[in-house]
Amino acid sequence: MRYVSTRGEAPVLNFEQAMLTGLARDGGLYLPEHVPALDDLTTFEGLSYEYAAFRVIRPFLGESFSDSELRGAIARAYEGFGHVARAPLTQLAPSHHLLELFHGPTLAFKDFAMQLIGQLFQIALERSGQRVTILGATSGDTGSAAIEAFRGLPNVDVFIMYPHGRVSEVQRRQMTTPDNDNVHALAVTGHFDDCQARLKDLFNDHDFRDEVGLAGVNSINWGRVLAQIVYYVTAAVSLGAPHRAVDFTVPTGNFGDIFAGSIARQMGVPIRRMIAATNRNDILHRALSTGEHQLGEVYPTISPSMDIQVSSNFERALYFAYGGDAAAIRQLMDELKSGGFTISQGALQALREQYGSGRASEEETSSMIATVRAETGQIVCPHTAVGIKVAREHLEPGVPMITLATAHPAKFPDAVEAAVGQRPPLPPHMAAIFDLPERVTRVENDGEAIKSLILDRRTA
Ligand SMILES: *Cc1c(COP(=O)(O)O)cnc(C)c1O
Repeated sequence: MRYVSTRGEAPVLNFEQAMLTGLARDGGLYLPEHVPALDDLTTFEGLSYEYAAFRVIRPFLGESFSDSELRGAIARAYEGFGHVARAPLTQLAPSHHLLELFHGPTLAFKDFAMQLIGQLFQIALERSGQRVTILGATSGDTGSAAIEAFRGLPNVDVFIMYPHGRVSEVQRRQMTTPDNDNVHALAVTGHFDDCQARLKDLFNDHDFRDEVGLAGVNSINWGRVLAQIVYYVTAAVSLGAPHRAVDFTVPTGNFGDIFAGSIARQMGVPIRRMIAATNRNDILHRALSTGEHQLGEVYPTISPSMDIQVSSNFERALYFAYGGDAAAIRQLMDELKSGGFTISQGALQALREQYGSGRASEEETSSMIATVRAETGQIVCPHTAVGIKVAREHLEPGVPMITLATAHPAKFPDAVEAAVGQRPPLPPHMAAIFDLPERVTRVENDGEAIKSLILDRRTA
């Protein structure tokens, strides 16, 4: 399997190289040259998450990992999850289901991908003796998931930039309390898009990139998208695929999670539509409904992991919608630098065939947490509430709707308490993070400052 960049000017790579690299050297994102079909979905019925993961992921790896390496990596990645089904489904209403993706070690869906690529990185680096510096930007949940997956690994340093003061206390403590020498949390002045912009700058600084062996595990990493395809398959099969089509609603920020659903769809899973649910930062909803992809201001919300204007993975969806025309994508991304672009009619139509969209205001999010609590007794996190609100606007008789529950409510206790008057407790094994000392470095939104910090601190 070969991987090409959405901008068409980076080397063609195999899976291992694409995973270790993250962002392509031309600033684009890697995609497989073709998407393999899944044969016979009925054979997935009643089998384990790990079995499904192997079947879904195997064809994308080519020669990069052997069957037994992949089986071992999958087993170790998910053994620490707090639910034997890994991604269990619960029911909200007769035709509306929640896919619980928060049973991993940091209580958000990011663990599904990060735990697996942590295992795959370890195998690849042990084999080559290579050392890498992982640099990530996070709106909250990616950072802790990356730290949890890579802490203590011998050939790796992990630097995570998060927007100072804009993540929840639990999210922050998950990043600042691990005491491994190879873990470095950086609190950057600014918002998430600033962190993401610095990340892109440093990756585009090829001398620096080569000197420290920069590796990216942000949601632009193809390995992350790949691991996320699996739960779309298991959820759809649980609710009747291949005999019955389903819809998904996905709380969306960087468009990585929902894009994985579109790959599942291309592989043959009968997904009718995927609905992108955004909070007040609704650039994707606006782009999908009007074709105008125009940057606005980033507003802090109670669903901070979606406080984004520049959704990196949307570039992948655009690449498919423009029929793989890398020159067209380069042009759009150039226009984006000066504020935005208009999606062509043909591409917009192609996007709308598979994606719907909606948004939830802060009040709507908060009141949906209360509504779900009243109707089902269940407490959901604010991101999930955004999804549920938008999903309810897209329910259709006869088509099961699956909303992704992207985080555990205990990660966002203030927002939940404001909505239902009750603080959801952290699972007992995590309660200790409130007592542990924090280690974090404050840094300005300045590429050179971040660069020298990395050169100075890295251990690998
Ligand atoms: C990361 C995250 C999202 C957004 O996912 P994307 O892949 O960036 O679209 C939604 N909810 C939670 C809780 C997250 O951590």
